[in-house]
Amino acid sequence: MRIKRIQEKTASIASEIKNAYIDFGKMTVSVVAIETDVIRDGKPVIGYGFNSNGRYAQGGLLRDRFIPRLKSVGENAIVDDDGTNLDPFKIWQVLMQNEKPGGHGERSVAVGVIDMAVWDIVAKIERKPLYRLLAERYSDTEPKNTTFVYAAGGYYYPGKDLDALKREMAGYLDKGYSVVKMKIGGEPLKDDMKRIEAVCSLLAETDQGADPGSRLAVDANGRFDLQTAIAYAIEMQSMGLFWYEEAGDPLDYALQSVLSEYYPHPLATGENLFSYQDVRNLIRHGGMRPDRDYLQMDPVLGYGLVEYLRMLEQLTMHGWSYRRCIPHGGHQFALHIAAGLGLGGNESYPEVFAPFGGFADRTPVENGYIKIPDVPGIGFEEKADLINLFYRLF
Ligand code: MG
Repeated sequence: MRIKRIQEKTASIASEIKNAYIDFGKMTVSVVAIETDVIRDGKPVIGYGFNSNGRYAQGGLLRDRFIPRLKSVGENAIVDDDGTNLDPFKIWQVLMQNEKPGGHGERSVAVGVIDMAVWDIVAKIERKPLYRLLAERYSDTEPKNTTFVYAAGGYYYPGKDLDALKREMAGYLDKGYSVVKMKIGGEPLKDDMKRIEAVCSLLAETDQGADPGSRLAVDANGRFDLQTAIAYAIEMQSMGLFWYEEAGDPLDYALQSVLSEYYPHPLATGENLFSYQDVRNLIRHGGMRPDRDYLQMDPVLGYGLVEYLRMLEQLTMHGWSYRRCIPHGGHQFALHIAAGLGLGGNESYPEVFAPFGGFADRTPVENGYIKIPDVPGIGFEEKADLINLFYRLF
């Protein structure tokens, strides 16, 4: 088999939202389509990939380095031993030729976009949903097509008051989510505490047999210095939150480690770590606790699933369960990975980052869980707004 064509485009995420650090209004997304000469159901197999939110489009890197490298090699360098399917690990080696170690940044996003499209192809050629293929290849447990998802939102908008925040969160509960997440750090601590208390009061009204705080996660997007991180930890401690996410800079492992001494409840971080070496440093030096904390690496932003599997290998070596991983991003690729490899769940953005965020149209969230339809590949074809965008772009 061979790759016939690789196309790349930049799309925008038109958005008014802000987190504690950035405004998403100017954010862009790279999208690729890789066409093969393999025919399934009378049509050539095409794989799609895009970068997850939070990082910009990588068109320059894709056009200048990664796509030319993939095009420059012969068939043998990218196909599996049978010659009937792509080999994502071989392709990763081709993409990363002549790249020095360290400094994992924008290039990890570009490689991740291609990697997503490659796995879409591999599963389509095998005529299996990706989660099933992953379970068969990399897990010894039965594949499960249901995964925990939580609703991420609670952004700062101009003029958004406590009632508007509560209405937003109530909307997520109505959609079937049991755990919701909101941003913190965009306002002073005392105002943020009012926001947190408002959402907890809403959760208390919707009794699901759990403490309201245990159904609320908060995310500071890496904004706090140590003093502020601890001040929030002390104020929030009695609320028993689902987790306290990315308090300090993603690479400040000492801050993370000291924070864990002040905060007995779950902490979460990792969405801005893009290599297995960075993740290894986090678990070596970040004071993260395998019995309660969560790791949120995003398989697209960090060099794709090939690298994510290396991260998981590191976690296993350091005594972590896959269940402690709940990836960032809210996209279908991470959902398949979560289901196929038995991770703890996946992020979901019910109201933002459309059409890239979100899952299949015909699978509603029920009691905090979502199903994955049994269609080959990642299933973009089951999400009308996204597949129609791909058809328009390519
Ligand atoms: Mg986050």
